[in-house]
Amino acid sequence: MSFKPANHIQDLQYFGEFGGVNPSISDSSTYTFLSAKTMFDTFEGNADGCYLYSRHSSPSNLYLGEALAAMEGTETANVTASGMGAITSVLLQLCKTDDHVVSSRTIYGGTYAFLKNFTPKFNIKTSFVDITDLDAVKAAITKNTKVIYCESVSNPLLEIADITGLAEIAKRNNLKLVVDNTFSPLSISPAKLGADVVVHSLTKFINGSSDTVGGVVCGTQDFINQLRNVNDGASMLLGVTMDSLRAASVLKNLRTLHIRIQQHSKNAMYLANKFETDGLKTVYPGLKSHPSHLRFSKMMNDEYGFGGMLTIDVGCLDKANELMEMMQERNLGYLAVSLGFYKTLFSAPGTSTSSEIPLEEQKNMGLTDGLIRFSIGLDADIERTYKMMRTCMEELNILQVKKVTKVA
Ligand SMILES: *Cc1c(COP(=O)(O)O)cnc(C)c1O
Repeated sequence: MSFKPANHIQDLQYFGEFGGVNPSISDSSTYTFLSAKTMFDTFEGNADGCYLYSRHSSPSNLYLGEALAAMEGTETANVTASGMGAITSVLLQLCKTDDHVVSSRTIYGGTYAFLKNFTPKFNIKTSFVDITDLDAVKAAITKNTKVIYCESVSNPLLEIADITGLAEIAKRNNLKLVVDNTFSPLSISPAKLGADVVVHSLTKFINGSSDTVGGVVCGTQDFINQLRNVNDGASMLLGVTMDSLRAASVLKNLRTLHIRIQQHSKNAMYLANKFETDGLKTVYPGLKSHPSHLRFSKMMNDEYGFGGMLTIDVGCLDKANELMEMMQERNLGYLAVSLGFYKTLFSAPGTSTSSEIPLEEQKNMGLTDGLIRFSIGLDADIERTYKMMRTCMEELNILQVKKVTKVA
C-alpha cells in the first residue's frame, strides 16, 4: 500500500493565538455568543466554526480529531474519554433493539463483556466467530445483523483480520464494518482497506506515555455528526467527552508516533526472532510462522513494521508469573496491563485483560494459561534486553538449553 499516514499528520498546521507552535488550549466548557440568533443556529448545527458547549465539541478536541482522521484517512473523527467510550457509543449508535452484531471472538475483554453482557439488555445480540474464517462470518449474518466488529490485530492472540474480505462481505450485506485498530496504528489503515468506522484506544500506542485513557472514532462526517447529534447522538448523550487539556497533551504525543512505532516494531521483531530460535512458542505477525503473516504483509504500510505486540507461551501460569516477576525485578519491564509504553509491559491475559472471558471459552479460542503478552518497549539496546530475558528463562528452566560441551 502507498498510503502515508504520518505525512498526513505532519501536513496539518496549527498555531496558538500568540503565534505559539502548539495550538492554544480551549480551557472552557461553554462559549459566549454576540447574538442570540447565532446561539440558536449553533444549537441546530448550522453555524460552522462556532462552539456552544464542550461536551459537544471544543477546539482542542477538534484539532486532535482532525489529526487522527488524517492518520486513518477518514473524513473526520470524534475523540472520546476512553477507548471503551468510543466503542460503546459507536455500537449503540449503529444498533437498536433486536439488532444483531457479528463479532470476532478474540477481542479486548471490555468489548467482549459489553457485547456479551451489556447490550443483551437492549436485546442486541452478538454472534462471536473466528474472524479469520470468512465463511463463518458470512454464515453468522442474519436479517437483523447491522455490524461486523473486529480488531485489525486481535487481543491477545494477535490474529489478523482480513479487512478487505470483511469489507466486501459488509458491503454486500449492507452492514457497517467497525475495526478497532488499537494494536496497529500507522501499520494498518483499516479505512483505506474498506472499513466504515475505525476506533482506537488512544491510551495505548497513540498517546504512548501511559498517563491517560482516551479514545477516538474515525469515520464519515455524516456518521460523526450522528454521534454528536444533540437529540440522539450516543457520544453527546452518553457524555464520553475527552477533556480539552488532555486532548492537547495527546496531540503533542501523536507527533512522535511514527518514530515510536518504528522502534516498537524493530525491537519486537528482534525479540520474536530470538525467542522463536530459542524454541519458545512465539506469536508475532512479523514471523513467517504466524498463520496470517502474509495477510498482514499485504495490508500493511511497510515502513511501520508488524507492531510492538508479541506473545510467548511458557507452559503454565506459575512459570508465567515467576518469569514476569523476575523480569520486573531486573528492570526489563513492568508487570502491568495496557500497552504502547516506552517500557516493556507484560501480563498473563487469561488472568488479567481477558479474565472477562469464561475459562471454557478462553480454551476454545486457544488462550492458554501459560501465555504472556508483551508490549515491547523502546529500548535503545534490545540485544542487552534479550540477553537478560534469556538469563531469566534459563534460571527458571523455561528454555531447555542444550549445554555446549567444551572440547578440550
Ligand atoms: C485498551 C483497549 C481498549 C479499551 O480502551 P480504554 O482506553 O481502556 O477504554 C479497546 N480495545 C483494545 C484493543 C484495547 O487494547
